[in-house]
Amino acid sequence: MISAELRVDLDRLRRNVRAVRARMAPAELLVVIKDDAYAQGVEPIVTAALDAGAVWFGGIDLPSAVRAKRTAGDRARVLCWMTLAEAEAEAALRSGLEVGVGDADYLDRIARATETTATCARVHLKIDTGLHRNGVRPEAWNAFCARAAALERAGRIRVVGIWTHIAEASDAEDDASRSAFDDAVTAAERAGLDAEVRHLSASAAAWHRPEFRYDLVRIGAFCYGIRSEHGPDIPGVAPISSLVARVTELGDVATVGVGSVDGYPSSAGGRISVATPGGVRQLVRVDPFSSLVELWDGAAIGDEVIMFGPGDAGEPTPTDLGEATGTVGEEPLLRVSPLVPRVYDKGASPSGETPLSR
Ligand SMILES: *Cc1c(COP(=O)(O)O)cnc(C)c1O
Repeated sequence: MISAELRVDLDRLRRNVRAVRARMAPAELLVVIKDDAYAQGVEPIVTAALDAGAVWFGGIDLPSAVRAKRTAGDRARVLCWMTLAEAEAEAALRSGLEVGVGDADYLDRIARATETTATCARVHLKIDTGLHRNGVRPEAWNAFCARAAALERAGRIRVVGIWTHIAEASDAEDDASRSAFDDAVTAAERAGLDAEVRHLSASAAAWHRPEFRYDLVRIGAFCYGIRSEHGPDIPGVAPISSLVARVTELGDVATVGVGSVDGYPSSAGGRISVATPGGVRQLVRVDPFSSLVELWDGAAIGDEVIMFGPGDAGEPTPTDLGEATGTVGEEPLLRVSPLVPRVYDKGASPSGETPLSR
């Protein structure tokens, strides 16, 4: 008997993607699929998002982006924004990926990779507008654009996008970043570049501030139903993934088969309640391989307990769990061990010998 699984509700994902796309229109949505689609599995996530109309995907790491492109084929464009070594850059181009380029050396590396792969690279030039994480500094931007324009004239690359990443920490900082971004776009045009898409925002800014949407928005968290830390619920959007654990032992408390080694945060013990077939009960303690939950009437071996999920049965959402343990809502999801099976579209209580009653 498998003692825990991560259930991913792809119908819920399709509804989330439709809600996000409707809100962003006429800007287009790029569904962020980094880190194996936030540990939920690139292939099923991309397939379901395509059904819901998504035409752009993107992420940091090359493996997730390659798998997204292989799944989507010509139905979607896929952007990889990690600064890659030359062999990886060649692999990215051969796979048909577009690349995010935020430094001059990398631009030249991409140009070399187009020669060995006989491709024309589709690139998105990245300006650093204040986050200082990655991106070309404003004082180096004009020279960078001139170099890109020369490579474009030589047929090595095509500049399809101008982009940046903003902090989403305060409106004032974001406004300053947006103004620096506008200057960068103007400078790129003056250098002779004619990008199709401009993009700067992720979930929170794109949702709450229409003026930040431009042509394209890069959204991960809200597509998966993960609200911002201490932020409001997002209408029309709910968590797609539930971590479900079975009862393996009964005593003064119920032992369920998921623990910190499986990725459940040990600091959640004593801080949250989880959903049992008998209602919401306190999570008493998280051990390495199991967790202890207060008893409920009629508890039985094999009963299913929801450790996090959409919240419909009173379980914490990923963001609730993050808030209780001092982190963001993506983290409980990203931490679920790859050894915990991902199960798709099973609905609320499918696998169970003893379905969870709601
Ligand atoms: C992860 C990431 C995003 C998505 O952020 P969310 O807050 O999850 O929507 C957008 N842009 C970049 C550059 C990222 O790395």
